[in-house]
Amino acid sequence: MSQQRETSEKVVSTLDDRLTSINQELQISNVIPSLSPSTKRILMNGSGSSIIKRQNSSAFNDDLLASVTNPDIEAVVYNLHNEVVFSNGPRTPKLVKISGEEKTKKLSGPDGAFLATYKKVRSSSNGKLTGYIVVINRMSYYNRLMRNLLNWMIVISIAAIIIFTVVSFLVVKDVVNPINQISEVAREVNADPNSEVRIQSLNRHDELEELASSFNSMLDRMQRYIEQQKEFVSDVSHELRTPVAVIEGHLNLLERWGKDDPEILDESIHASLQEADRMKHLIQEMLDLTRAEQINVQYPNAVTKVVDVLARVTNDMALVHQDFKVQLDIDDLPEDTEIQIYQGHLEQLLVILIDNGIKYSTDIKQINVSAGVTKNSLRIIVQDFGEGISEEDQAKIFNRFYRVDKARTRERGGNGLGLSIAQKLVTSYHGKISVDSVLGQGSQFIIDFPVLSHEEAEKLKAQDEKKKIHQA
Ligand code: ADP
Repeated sequence: MSQQRETSEKVVSTLDDRLTSINQELQISNVIPSLSPSTKRILMNGSGSSIIKRQNSSAFNDDLLASVTNPDIEAVVYNLHNEVVFSNGPRTPKLVKISGEEKTKKLSGPDGAFLATYKKVRSSSNGKLTGYIVVINRMSYYNRLMRNLLNWMIVISIAAIIIFTVVSFLVVKDVVNPINQISEVAREVNADPNSEVRIQSLNRHDELEELASSFNSMLDRMQRYIEQQKEFVSDVSHELRTPVAVIEGHLNLLERWGKDDPEILDESIHASLQEADRMKHLIQEMLDLTRAEQINVQYPNAVTKVVDVLARVTNDMALVHQDFKVQLDIDDLPEDTEIQIYQGHLEQLLVILIDNGIKYSTDIKQINVSAGVTKNSLRIIVQDFGEGISEEDQAKIFNRFYRVDKARTRERGGNGLGLSIAQKLVTSYHGKISVDSVLGQGSQFIIDFPVLSHEEAEKLKAQDEKKKIHQA
């Protein structure tokens, strides 16, 4: 644009340079000779009527005016009466009055933009206004360039829109497909909670793959819970059936004739009370088991000093079972050892294991409880010298309601829930429980817990404190 403006101004100034030498109002007779020496020659030799024609053909062959032969340029010189005294083309641009000496305007016409430059011509000797120059620059190169640019922009924009649409479609399809798959699976599982259907591997290593795998494991877990729930209900009803049947049997007996026999009455009441007590015990244990499954929610930050609990529980157990020797060995246990567990749960755990040791002891009435720390791990061992457990049974004793010898265990008041509760508690606190036993010689139950560093313990205690204040 500035190039075009320069061209226009150059033409104007070339014309102006020539015309300022004229002192009177511009006329054909004085303009043509000043613009071209050759024209002057023509004027001198020829008749006046041919001036315009000749000016078109020869004036612009002059070297000085070569620049105005540019086909884009239309130059016109007006006199003070608005009459054309010189024009280089068939079209004659109109004169527009301007306030200053020179003005260039960008206008638009049917062929595109053009530049119109208007200049007042003044005589160089007396400064009087002698006429006007009007130069129109059609700017065909500029207009062509702009048209081409516009065409290219349209083509590129259309191409960009097409490419964008295709790419967006592909990207959206890539995202929507797995989401459809996930919702399809969700729908199926919703319709049939036992359905085995799962999301196939998406092979994409991104958030959607992660979502799919979390979704699958959530379904697995949910179905496992449902299954466990069902098993639990069936186990519980099975376990409750025996005591209820026993109580019912005794009541029937009493109803029919037993109530008249004081001995039978006494025996039946005693047996029924025993069964009721067993049921109470069973219900308590089932409640414990259910609670042990929700530890993370209830006591996430509890910290317990192990020495105190070990000393208290072994003492209490020795008091209750005076015929037993309950020995505590904590030589390898640093006094300040702390682990992440709710104190009541560590006590419950120890009671279950010591109680089992006592229940399943034979001749040697001794229980050894030892504890020590190695490599940031606390190990507690509860050892008895009783009947022991076969290898086959060792794998099953942590299952709910599993008893090695059903009849005998029942005599001793066992429901087969103690070790399941113990295992749930230990694993909830990120620990491990295992058994080492030889049939006829005795058993060792081993529990391992990660030991808390002083900083970790303090942090958990602070969080616990905060939670308590928050709840209060
Ligand atoms: P229970 O209340 O019947 O003792 P547990 O879950 O504590 O239930 O134990 C499951 C079974 O494992 C018991 O019935 C018993 O047969 C066996 N068992 C547990 N502890 C010992 C032990 N110290 N010695 C021998 N057998 C044991």
